Amino acid sequence: MSDTRSLAVGDTIGILGGGQLGRMLALAAANLGLKTHIYCPDPASPAFDVAYACTVADYEDEDALEGFARSCGAITYEFENVPGKTAAFLEGLGALRPGARALEVSQDRLFEKEFLTSAGVAIAPFADISSEADLKAALDKFGGKGVLKTRRFGYDGKGQVMIRKPEDAEGALEKLGNAPAVLEGLIAFDREVSVIVARDVNGTCSAYELTENRHVNHILDTSTVPANASDALRTSAHDMALRIAASLDYVGVMGVEMFVVPGADGEEILVNEIAPRVHNSGHWTQDACLCSQFEQHIRAVAGWALGSCERHSDVVMHNLIGDQVNAWPDVLKEPNAKLHLYGKAEARPGRKMGHVNRISPRS
Ligand code: AMP
Repeated sequence: MSDTRSLAVGDTIGILGGGQLGRMLALAAANLGLKTHIYCPDPASPAFDVAYACTVADYEDEDALEGFARSCGAITYEFENVPGKTAAFLEGLGALRPGARALEVSQDRLFEKEFLTSAGVAIAPFADISSEADLKAALDKFGGKGVLKTRRFGYDGKGQVMIRKPEDAEGALEKLGNAPAVLEGLIAFDREVSVIVARDVNGTCSAYELTENRHVNHILDTSTVPANASDALRTSAHDMALRIAASLDYVGVMGVEMFVVPGADGEEILVNEIAPRVHNSGHWTQDACLCSQFEQHIRAVAGWALGSCERHSDVVMHNLIGDQVNAWPDVLKEPNAKLHLYGKAEARPGRKMGHVNRISPRS
């Protein structure tokens, strides 16, 4: 049976990871009268600036993890690469929300695809690759094209090789350090979209509106809501996201990334990947909804009722990557723009430094 314990006002939520997602979760928790304890090995973590308590320790340090767990009424995480052993250890000490199963599935692309298939959602064709022979056989099956991805630790296009012609396949496995991989069929998608879904401890589910995402150099650049999508497509995307959350007996907010592809009867959705945490493509909810994805996640982790996912404004979220952040004084002058800065000292190329939500009346 699921653990439905709920926290009292003033209790503490533990967060593994101290990046901008942890920071925005901590701010949302504070607005609800909850404290946060951030656990991160990096002493310069942006979330430390806004938390009640901080632990700087390795994710495998069981003494530090135990002290952390004892100080918290529930524990969550802001990144999916929490070591499995750490998740299991924390789950043994109290409420880990979402649970270790969500991590296990999302950390490994092969497990993720097997899970998504068993949950009955549509995905790209895939094959398990551990040798050149596997790769050759899979490419033959997928028409000579595909995307080779490491099973673990890939993000923002890292750990991937695009194969469009036979030469691209030469040395592709080597480029990925001969790590265990999957080959996905190359999808001629029209647009990339996502759904941010939430599920509480009693199994009540709710999802934010479909979001249209544009990437530049494999990094999310903008999220636009409303997305360009028919009602049928929206319903199909929502159904898939809700089914995934229910199949994992999930507690918290999850990002589900999807491709829109041409189908026999109009457009169809294929699920690309899931993120068992608040997601960059849900940052728009901070200024276009009464209850943001961060508040929603904190409510679920605390065992409280979910808020409304309704949207009151149209919105475009724009990430401020690297030195784009230097434009922040200009953003301050825009009447319909809400600036969010993460307090990171150094604007390295590709680093997410902040974002802007530009809102307009709901169309
Ligand atoms: P991922 O790390 O799986 O989110 O992939 C990063 C980006 O690569 C996606 O946002 C897509 O733009 C592209 N991509 C990933 N998988 C595929 C695929 N099977 N076919 C075509 N493009 C893909």
